[in-house]
Amino acid sequence: MPRTLFAALVALLLFPCSATLAQSAIECAQCAEWNVPQRPFRLHGTTYYVGTHGLGAILITSPQGHVLIDGGLPQTAPLIRANIESLGFRMRDVKLILNSHAHYDHAGGIAELQRASGARVMASAWSASVMKSGKSQPGDPQLGIAFGYAAVDNVGTFTFEDTLRVGPIAIVPHATPGHTPGGTTWSWRSCEAARCLDFVYADSQTPVSADDFLFTKNTTYPNAIADFERGFATLERLSCDVLLTPHPGVSSLWDRVSPSDGTIGATLVDRDACTRYAASARRALAARVAKERGS
Ligand SMILES: [Zn+2]
Repeated sequence: MPRTLFAALVALLLFPCSATLAQSAIECAQCAEWNVPQRPFRLHGTTYYVGTHGLGAILITSPQGHVLIDGGLPQTAPLIRANIESLGFRMRDVKLILNSHAHYDHAGGIAELQRASGARVMASAWSASVMKSGKSQPGDPQLGIAFGYAAVDNVGTFTFEDTLRVGPIAIVPHATPGHTPGGTTWSWRSCEAARCLDFVYADSQTPVSADDFLFTKNTTYPNAIADFERGFATLERLSCDVLLTPHPGVSSLWDRVSPSDGTIGATLVDRDACTRYAASARRALAARVAKERGS
């Protein structure tokens, strides 16, 4: 038996929790830039930003428990945890962890955050199958180039007719597929005294793929373009006072909030932001389709 194989078998016997071994940091071209630490801050009412400078993570709080959306890269999990705790909240009060889409840069830290909190993890059916295995599945335009990550032990599924609740928090999933088949946008209302704002955490809408995947012609995700268009229409329909995105720069968060001290600018509220986001995504998809058709 080759010595390395023997060593691997011994390691497996001694450390059966292989998920722990799989939690190592992912090194991608943009990972270090995405993972630059960010001081957390309150956006409005019970809604807080707890992600890094380049990867969104949102905490919605209540006296009966909190909801966390997205977990960043595997190496983002300790930063999100530190941000939540530095705001004075406890990890064990995070009762529900949700996800935008099941790529490594938004779901890679969820296994560790689940372990740290004991929270329930809920995902769309397609995203749940990816998160349970830690590997992308057929249908993902980025199959073959998306990194694997630590599998999540217990992932429940919701349907897009459901409203998810933790105490007084009601958060609604909206199907916005295309970037992945399971892409989910989240909406909820957050109030501060009498002022309530409708928040939208809109999933990535970019037509990014492996070199051998064509959005216009493929066998693994033939509905990709129709799915994107359905999601754009959904984004245009949502009541949207504040747009947030899994990569905060995509929705210009750092023009609307000071990253140094979390001061909220007057432009945080922008009721046209979701419509503009959908319009720019529609243009990017049209450009990609034109390129694939050689026109
Ligand atoms: Zn992605």
